[in-house]
Amino acid sequence: MELEKIKGVGKVRAEKYAKLGITTAEELISYIPLRYENRGHILPLSIAADGEKHACILTVATASRAARISGGRHLIKFRAFDSSAFAEITFFCRNIRAVPKFSPGEVYRVYGRFTLYRGGIECVNPICEPLSEKSPLPVLYPVYKTTDGLSSKLISKSVQAALNAIENNCSLLEEYIPQEFIIKNDLLPLCKMYRLLHFPTTEDDIAIARKSICYREFFTFFSMTIAQRNERLALKKAPFNAEIPFDLIEKLPYKLTDGQMRAVKDIKRDLCSPFVMRRIVVGDVGCGKTAIAQFAAVMAIRAGFNVALMAPTEILAQQHYETLAPYFESLGYRTELLLGSTSAKEKRMIRQFLTSECDPSQKIRLIIGTHALLTANVCMSDLGLVIIDEQHRFGVIQRQKLIDKGELVNSLSLSATPIPRSYAKMIYGDTDSSIIAELPPGRTPPKTFIVNETYRERLDKFIEKKVLEGRQVYVVCPAIEPQEDDDEVDARKIKDLSAETRFHYLKNRFPGLSVDILHGKMRPAEKEAAMERFSSEKTQILVSTTVIEVGVNVPNATLMIIEGADRFGLSQLHQLRGRVARGTHESFCILVSDAKNAEAIERLKVLSEHSSGFDIAEADFKQRGPGDLFSMTKSGNIRQSGEFGFKYARFCDDETVMRQAYNDACAVMAADAAFDTEALMKKLAKYAESGLCE
Ligand code: ADP
Ligand code: MG
Repeated sequence: MELEKIKGVGKVRAEKYAKLGITTAEELISYIPLRYENRGHILPLSIAADGEKHACILTVATASRAARISGGRHLIKFRAFDSSAFAEITFFCRNIRAVPKFSPGEVYRVYGRFTLYRGGIECVNPICEPLSEKSPLPVLYPVYKTTDGLSSKLISKSVQAALNAIENNCSLLEEYIPQEFIIKNDLLPLCKMYRLLHFPTTEDDIAIARKSICYREFFTFFSMTIAQRNERLALKKAPFNAEIPFDLIEKLPYKLTDGQMRAVKDIKRDLCSPFVMRRIVVGDVGCGKTAIAQFAAVMAIRAGFNVALMAPTEILAQQHYETLAPYFESLGYRTELLLGSTSAKEKRMIRQFLTSECDPSQKIRLIIGTHALLTANVCMSDLGLVIIDEQHRFGVIQRQKLIDKGELVNSLSLSATPIPRSYAKMIYGDTDSSIIAELPPGRTPPKTFIVNETYRERLDKFIEKKVLEGRQVYVVCPAIEPQEDDDEVDARKIKDLSAETRFHYLKNRFPGLSVDILHGKMRPAEKEAAMERFSSEKTQILVSTTVIEVGVNVPNATLMIIEGADRFGLSQLHQLRGRVARGTHESFCILVSDAKNAEAIERLKVLSEHSSGFDIAEADFKQRGPGDLFSMTKSGNIRQSGEFGFKYARFCDDETVMRQAYNDACAVMAADAAFDTEALMKKLAKYAESGLCE
């Protein structure tokens, strides 16, 4: 159902919803809260003033007074109290009517950040709800990812309207999981599940609804990959006549590691088999996956086929072209690079030499590129193998599009996302995996330290020292701009960790050094220019967000500072850290965190104690459950690698849910299973179309 048909959603709001990726009532219902505010846990004021968000029951002591302040805004103040203390309540707002008039004697539930300030307690921009005997206030409030003009409150209202409108007639709410699994796993019916996720009354409601949605997501995902596997194994192709290219491997300036050699052998076996290859090579950053791709390509080309290699960014594709083209050209195999920014003339030339009509001697054997390879008018004849680098950067559909450029095409994916070994089989589903556990000899992992704000001065000195030694520095921040919900108090008292703020700080601090900034909101050309300036050593300090996470190789960068480190997932921190320790110089990774809770610090310690991505993934998994590995967002706004296109798994902290879903999916998809799977198949078909399971 169209969004505009929902009560309270007009054209203007529909456009805002579109910004959040919501265009139908069904999508709105499946847009579940990131977290919940508990406003029902009431504290005495004197205890609440610890800088965290709490609720207090306060009586207004003085009538509210309003004053105009700069920027066309208003300042509204009044005093309120409970039996333990007084507080000064302040609002900053543009629209004075948005704040109610407060009169002495009125009682409110006040939810906000209470802080000690100049000897008193203050609270800025809290939520004040009048207390009434008749209708008790709800306890849990959903917090959604919002956008300008769409608050959590508004979204919640629309969700309610959407549920009421389509509850009885909606494909989203049609059951697709066989009844026995619903009973066995205590799953909530879909409608109830969504209702509890949006409007829970207790924490238990949230837990049970989250378990249901995570199970469902895992179940759908696993069923999908098992179905794909069954389909693929039903396809037979002519086996390649592939040989391991020992002649070339011997000519390398180094010896392949055992893991690399094993992966090459796995690939050879797959190519020679009558089944289409679906293989992923998983190995830590720097373990040498490019070399594996290189020999896979050689094997396919020698067997008479052509190869496409796709990378997620122009910088990476360019980097691959520069390393691989001379090699393949020297073997007599024409190699070309196709990027979005390649000139139209050049693109035409490349397209021509990819087709079967061209002179065989001029034919492109290896094409390297970005998403540009996926455009419809790029046709490749005799495509035998596609290689997808940094595969987590591509969606399921994009990967499939490249594979569909030929018939019965083998695919090889490369990934640095360390999945604990014991989960590889479940998670990679239709794909066989080769895991590389070791790095080439002679690498020293970066020394990793955890420090807090009191080290700021020493940190700055360290940055300067490294730069003066001729090295380069990354400073990674958890956000681009100062956060939206940073109200006046936060901006004043809480350290701002945004890239923009750190960038200006470092520029002022080191006027003689060249400081640059790189983040995801910049245009692609700007990003690449910034990256180019850094890799050509024009920039000494690069302040960035996690956009630098992927594949870039700047061996001269030997110091990485990660601000607000507790706000990142462990695996992500490990990926980030992989940007340093790529050369011969000693390198450092400094995790800056002001986190007070022991758990956060324990988590970061894993990183200073382990250097293997697999060990870290295993520890991450043990500490946090599978959700942390698959989550797409964290703290509401930080992107994690969403390798598998999971939408909800981030709420799962229970490994047994995942295992159970896997076992059930295996049972349902088994050849001799006797379940009624019609609804499930419909669901899977939809999933295949959208690339996202629900
Ligand atoms: P990643 O797995 O992160 O893609 P790369 O393929 O970029 O890693 O390799 C990182 C570096 O390691 C490259 O400079 C490459 O030449 C080098 N390398 C790869 N394999 C070996 C090896 N067996 N011994 C020594 N160096 C190697
Ligand atoms: Mg790589």
